[in-house]
Amino acid sequence: MNIEEVKNNIRDVIDFPIKGIVFKDLTTAFKNADCMKFFENEMYNLYKDKGITKIIGIESRGFIMAPILGNKLNIGFVPIRKKGKLPAETIEVSYTKEYGIDTIQLHKDALNENDVVLLHDDLLATGGTMKAACELVRKFGVKKIYVNFLVELDFLKGREVFDSDIQIDSLIHY
Ligand code: AMP
Repeated sequence: MNIEEVKNNIRDVIDFPIKGIVFKDLTTAFKNADCMKFFENEMYNLYKDKGITKIIGIESRGFIMAPILGNKLNIGFVPIRKKGKLPAETIEVSYTKEYGIDTIQLHKDALNENDVVLLHDDLLATGGTMKAACELVRKFGVKKIYVNFLVELDFLKGREVFDSDIQIDSLIHY
């Protein structure tokens, strides 16, 4: 499997969820075991020597690869969820989306200042969601933040919204 073959397994859905958006549907890649192995191995090679202590998945499409990579790196998985979903005490950040305000949360005891954190989501579009997630993780005073996506939509220039000390890597670019 190479990048072009993986791209052939990603489906474009026109006008989803709203008119004008070309939605990159990764479910067609996730159902192919060779694509899953490609994602797992490429991510592992990127992060195996970075001393990462926790992997965070962003609800909900970030919950697919993050635990798989966490197992391979032998580190724990932590979920970032939308407001009201986590049961214990939380820390939160609110951010502006195209339509209104969204809030994401982490459990207060999820991270500590000795952690080296890898944040993962399936796709980087404008970067709003992941930027807010980085802000949330910074509140814990962690040592270092890495950010990973399976797919990056380069033309939206989402990576420009991040602080320069955050390392961002995407496996596939459009
Ligand atoms: P953003 O905050 O704009 O970077 O949006 C990222 C989130 O929205 C990710 O969790 C993606 O799953 C989803 N998303 C945004 N645009 C698309 C797209 N064109 N195709 C697939 N998912 C998208």
